[in-house]
Order: sequence, then C-alpha cells, then structure tokens
Amino acid sequence: MPIKKTTEKVDINKRRIINGEDADVIQLYPMKHVFAWDAYNAANANHWLPTEIGMQKDVEQWKAKDVLSDDERHALKTVLGFFTTADSIAANNVVMAFYRHITSPECRLYLLRQAYEEAIHTHSYQYIVESLRLDESEIFNMYREVDSIYNKDAFVLSFNEGIFDPLFKTGTFENDQKFLENIIVFSLIMEGIFFYSSFAVMFGFQRQNKMVGAAEQIQYIMRDESMHLNFGIDLINTIKQEQPELWTKTFQERAIELVKKAAQLEYRFAQTAFPTGIFGMNAESFRQYIEHIADRRLTRIGLPPQFNSNNPFPWMSEAIDLSKEKNFFETRVTEYKTGGVLDWN
Ligand code: FE
Repeated sequence: MPIKKTTEKVDINKRRIINGEDADVIQLYPMKHVFAWDAYNAANANHWLPTEIGMQKDVEQWKAKDVLSDDERHALKTVLGFFTTADSIAANNVVMAFYRHITSPECRLYLLRQAYEEAIHTHSYQYIVESLRLDESEIFNMYREVDSIYNKDAFVLSFNEGIFDPLFKTGTFENDQKFLENIIVFSLIMEGIFFYSSFAVMFGFQRQNKMVGAAEQIQYIMRDESMHLNFGIDLINTIKQEQPELWTKTFQERAIELVKKAAQLEYRFAQTAFPTGIFGMNAESFRQYIEHIADRRLTRIGLPPQFNSNNPFPWMSEAIDLSKEKNFFETRVTEYKTGGVLDWN
C-alpha cells in the first residue's frame, strides 16, 4: 500500500486487531492494544537460548542401561516426535496467517518476537535430539508416521487451508469468522492444549531427577508457550469486543466442538506416549488433566466448561515456577530475566 503524504495524525479509534487498515499499520504509537506491548516486554525479559543449558547429565543417563526404563525412553521419544515439528507448524501460522492479517502494529511487534521464540523452540528440540544422539530422521519424521501425532497435526493444519491462500482477505463476515477460528485453533488448541501432555511428561522426568537438561529447556518453552497462549486469548477477546457480530451462537458452539475434539486427540496422543503409565502418571490421569486445561481455555474466552474434571497434576503449576527450580538445577550461567511477573495460565 502506498504511503499517504499527510500531516493528519493516526486515529487510534480506527485501529483494530483485524480490518484496521484505515489506521496506520506501521506506526507503533499511539498504541491501542497495550497487552501486546506488555507481552513483547515480558518476552524480552525472559529471553533464553537452548545451548546455554548443559546436556551432559542427560547424555549419561540416556547412555546408562539402568537409569531409564523402556517405557520412559518410549515416552521421551514420542513427546520429542511431537515437539520437533510442532513449533514449525506454529511458526508458519504466526507468519503466514497472523502476521499477514493482523493490522495492529503493536500486535505485529509481538508476533515478530513470538516467531523468533518458535524458532528457538525448534532449535531446542534439535539440540536435545543431537545431544542424545537420537536418530533425527526417526524423530523429526514422527509427525508423518505416528498416528496420534499425525492426527493432531493434520487437525490443526487443516485450519491453514484457505487462510494461506494469497488471495484470502479479511473484511467479510465469513472470512473474519474463518480467521478468528484459525486463532482459536492455533492459540487455544495448538499452543494451549496440544503441548501440555508432553510438557507434563517432561516434568514427570524432572520430578525423578531424570533428563533435567531437556526438562529445563522444556520449562522455558512452556513459559514462552504460556505467553503465546495468553496473547492469543487477548487477540480473541479483543476481536470479540471490536467485532461482536462475529461471536454468534453457532460460532461459539463450533469453538466448543473444536476444543472437545482437540481434547480427544490429545488424549489419544497421551495413550501412545505411555501405554502403561510412568512416574505414577497414566492415561486416565492424562485424560483428566487434558480435560481440566481444555475447560480453562474455554472459560478464558467466555465459553462454558465442558468436562469439570479435577486437576490430577497440581505440581504442573509448580513446574512453571522457574526461580525455585533454578536453585535446584543451577545449570544456567546467564540470567536474563530482569523483572516482571508473568501471569501463568
Ligand atoms: Fe508458540
């Protein structure tokens, strides 16, 4: 779009998450969606890189015959099979759907940071796979070979269809709903549900003092993902305010159905990762945990809970208390976090 030469100042009231082209999409100020600026600053305060975290102890444990059981090895490989490609899928949608169609400069600023974080996460899985000398072609290809991973990915990727079309544009009721649905699928479901059984598995290892280098990286990833989720929820709730006509009863029912379907897919995945249960965690406890977080995601966007399951893993909230874990591991040499309390979900 050519720049209009004018002394006229930007009208902040025209700024929108989507369809705000009339306002400037380049000038950061005046800022309207302050949550995006806050998220950007919090993300910078939490910067980290995988290679700062030592993997020596993990390598020794992985090599040793008597530290990890076969079930634990299977679980670790299965969650890595999901992780290694999941952040690439998330990144593609951030860049090719969110960034293209979101018209708020402050939201775009955060999206640039988020895209970089997805790259760091993919780097992290690569670093774990390489350190443990796992077969890259086995782990990175699991999303095409293992049914329960394939089914989750095929589900979210189907919501790229249409949106990734270079001719797709927001601005009609139908397309705006389609884009809002894409945000729900990628933020609430991909970032907010599909990562969480795998996170729980990794913290299961951590609680046994096993694979602590890998688990520490996953902890930082979970902190980042939790911010991506919160940002996505802010996007959804702000679009609801800016374009309330999109939030129809039918649309709400569809969103609930998508979350229920996702909970089912995630449960199937958990069953594949640990068919017999490890660390006192079994498929049934994962079902409850997945349902518990699915309900939390729904209520955050104003939809009714569907499962009302109790949280069988209350320690998951402790796992995100990084300062406490840090004293325990003392593996990091660099401290980036300079302040700012994160709102953990
Ligand atoms: Fe993410």
